[in-house]
Amino acid sequence: MQENLEDPQVKEAISATSTMAESAVSWHVDHLPERADVVVVGGGIAGTSAAYHLAKAGVQVVLMERGSIGGGATAAAVGVLSPPLRQPFHETVHFLGRDVAIELWQIAARSIRGLAQLLWNRGKAKEADLDLSGGYVLAQSHTEHQVRLAYEALSRNGLPVDWISAAEVRRLCGGRGFTGGYWIEGGGSLNPGAATTILAQAAESEGACIIENVDVIGTERAADAIICRADGVSTKCAAVVYATHIDSDRFSDFVGEEIVPIRAQGFASEPVPKVFHGSFSTDWKLNVWRQTSEGRILMSGWRHDAWDRAYGHRQPALDERLQDDIHRWFEASFPALAPLRVKDRWSGVFGWTADFLPMVGPIPGSSREFIITGFSGGGIPLAFECGRSIARSVVSGAPADGCEVFSPARFQRA
Ligand SMILES: Cc1cc2nc3c(=O)[nH]c(=O)nc-3n(C[C@H](O)[C@H](O)[C@H](O)COP(=O)(O)OP(=O)(O)OC[C@H]3O[C@@H](n4cnc5c(N)ncnc54)[C@H](O)[C@@H]3O)c2cc1C
Repeated sequence: MQENLEDPQVKEAISATSTMAESAVSWHVDHLPERADVVVVGGGIAGTSAAYHLAKAGVQVVLMERGSIGGGATAAAVGVLSPPLRQPFHETVHFLGRDVAIELWQIAARSIRGLAQLLWNRGKAKEADLDLSGGYVLAQSHTEHQVRLAYEALSRNGLPVDWISAAEVRRLCGGRGFTGGYWIEGGGSLNPGAATTILAQAAESEGACIIENVDVIGTERAADAIICRADGVSTKCAAVVYATHIDSDRFSDFVGEEIVPIRAQGFASEPVPKVFHGSFSTDWKLNVWRQTSEGRILMSGWRHDAWDRAYGHRQPALDERLQDDIHRWFEASFPALAPLRVKDRWSGVFGWTADFLPMVGPIPGSSREFIITGFSGGGIPLAFECGRSIARSVVSGAPADGCEVFSPARFQRA
């Protein structure tokens, strides 16, 4: 990263737009500078990670968030921190090849370690409810075959997983109806909203300027700069990173078309005795849950028998039928915790891409506009490393290295 910054052309481009003060200021729009090297639009875990790594690389960066930091889909997430498993691992090997499948796993593992390290270094792991006891992928009769094949493929490729039998699942957490599963070393869980706020504070300590409650209504490309316009204010920059998740169509038709919104449901229970450590999922993360250090069960899910209630819905809305489904499923699966009293319910929306992998890198056809989005329901374990990668790409002008597999160009139509 530093080597790239030493490139005279990069230095020149950056210093030409830099008028920000050295130290960052406050999260109020009054502090929006007139110019910056880079503007990041969107302060979820993805944009905040990008801003952190840019600031750390010495780039003067402004992060503009229309609501509060970590308040979008990131706040709705349960916080499962396990390598991305939207598809069974053996299928990823089949479709993308062994090397790419392993690379994906390693990106997530680096990302989890990097974020955890930052939280430890800042003495904030407890505040973020970080728990790295591992990730559990549980099998039911309808998924057993796939879960086994996935486990065998992971194991064959030397990735750190252990099979657990149905009896072990029962002993571990009282689970009923599970036919087994596997445990992933290095996985776990955290509170994603809290972790993102801590990440924003870390970015600020590195010199980033964080602005909340400012809706970027559009960007204009001028010869010497990109102008980011919000209501009554604007700022100029040399490059812009869109981390706007399902709302990316405002800035790029290309990106907008590739992101499909999916609505999910979540609930949080009253505290119950601690039985779950790390993170848990079934059905390739259609259902995920964790237990906070205070004992609350946080669960999210959307049912495969209810596509019409999930697919293509852009606005969060509580869906009583799906809420009841996931609540009943949980009670039936963990009878020792029933009746489980629900304290909060919520709904959130996440953006899927066609291959369930995010888009990280320059927007095709533009050398000054970058995108980090489309995490397809699994952004929490990936965003930190993708933020590092996009920062490198912005600084060097080269494709995002380390995450080439996520290049947005893969969706370009001939
Ligand atoms: C119910 C639910 C449970 C989930 N559970 C998990 C889980 O356990 N593990 C996991 O890995 N993933 C989970 N996910 C997915 C996870 O939430 C996402 O992958 C992740 O949060 C994406 O982060 P992001 O930064 O891309 O998006 P967001 O967090 O949505 O951030 C985008 C930000 O951009 C801002 N923005 C948009 N447009 C503008 C604009 N014009 N100007 C300024 N700001 C703008 C928004 O306000 C928002 O804050 C879950 C999702 C849901 C809905």
